[in-house]
Amino acid sequence: MRNAFRPFRVAFAALGCKTNRYDAATVRDRLPAGVFEEVPFESEADAYVVFTCTVTHLADRQSRQFIYQAHKRNPDAAVIAAGCYPTVGAEELRKIEGLTRVMEDVSTDALLAELYEMAGVDLQFEDENHFNLARFEDRSRPFLKIQDGCDNYCSYCIIPYTRGKPRSVPLKTILCRLEKLAESGYKEVVLTGISQGKWNQSEPEKLSFAGLIKAIDEAAFLPRIRISSIEPPDLTDELIEVVAASKCICPHLHVALQSGCNSVLARMNRRYTTEFYRERLEASRSVIKDLYWGADVIVGFPQESDEEFESTFNFIQSLDIQYLHVFPYSARKNTPAAEMEGQVHPQTARERAAKLRALSRRSREKAALAAIGKTVEVLIETPSDGRNPARGLSRDYHTVWVDSPGLSKNQIIGVTVEKLYNSWHLMGVPAKLEDMNDGS
Ligand code: SF4
Repeated sequence: MRNAFRPFRVAFAALGCKTNRYDAATVRDRLPAGVFEEVPFESEADAYVVFTCTVTHLADRQSRQFIYQAHKRNPDAAVIAAGCYPTVGAEELRKIEGLTRVMEDVSTDALLAELYEMAGVDLQFEDENHFNLARFEDRSRPFLKIQDGCDNYCSYCIIPYTRGKPRSVPLKTILCRLEKLAESGYKEVVLTGISQGKWNQSEPEKLSFAGLIKAIDEAAFLPRIRISSIEPPDLTDELIEVVAASKCICPHLHVALQSGCNSVLARMNRRYTTEFYRERLEASRSVIKDLYWGADVIVGFPQESDEEFESTFNFIQSLDIQYLHVFPYSARKNTPAAEMEGQVHPQTARERAAKLRALSRRSREKAALAAIGKTVEVLIETPSDGRNPARGLSRDYHTVWVDSPGLSKNQIIGVTVEKLYNSWHLMGVPAKLEDMNDGS
């Protein structure tokens, strides 16, 4: 398969969650240059790797489409399905013409071993601490995976069956990777995991997720660390205190809610109530300055009545949070929820999603309006191209545009916010960082 006079060409596509994108980046970085060459997915490759997602039927379909495209592009190439889909739909995938390998083992080591074998090279397998993410070239805020797996068994979710029990990356490894990312010039890193609040370490010292965040804060390798989604029970008092006292942990929490109605939460096997969620929000808000709070919500869960949806809507409205990620429920085979009676019509789920998305837009706008006149710290992600202003992100998760030439990617500047732009984005002018009053 490999031409001995040129490197083995590999193309990657990663769908779905940050974990997939992180795994793809990890594999890319562990392919030695000279032996392998990464090429765009749209071009001819010797092997195509599709990090599939199976969170919804749409994700399944998109994953299959990438596989079809790869085979069409080069019928002689190896096409590998990695990620979550193979762990629940291996048989289905094997029927796809041109798909040469279905990775039921989700570890990046197994995938690397496969690629090495395809390339016909006998390389000593690297140890799992190998890390070189200096090639996260398309992102200014790389993800750092600190945890994998989940054992919550929410009734709608396939992940505990696909990703297995929670596993944590050791503290020492995380700190070493953060230091490397800082040395590579990154200013912000987003911590990710399937259920990252479950991160823990028993040796050499016992640490919880809050202990990890404290250690990262004390190491202070980067000006910004962002915590991605966490579960309400994992938002402990200790974690709230660490975030509140930190200079580098961003005042931005994304806390999965899923429903604002206790009877739906019980059917989802979520292990908290709306009262608990509200209490965690208020505890956080009371100490974390300029807190920006987002939530995931699923609508159209089996048996969700109009009254239950109304409770959810009213509950979320009363929280006065900043944004929502709304997902119409999609049944996943082999989960308890898929077997429940009273599946909600997809059109009803879509209508409910539209109502919550409209609420989310209004909430974002309200938060953006409140930022006008403030000076905020902005990390430039896309410099101006001459036609559009430069675009960046504030510590508290506002998208901020700056009409100023000469700004470069990964530069941190102060911006005085003048007006709204593109609905709930902000537009401002450069200011001195010392003038900041966003709590940074
Ligand atoms: S917490 Fe629930 S929804 Fe999230 S990964 Fe675990 S089982 Fe799935």
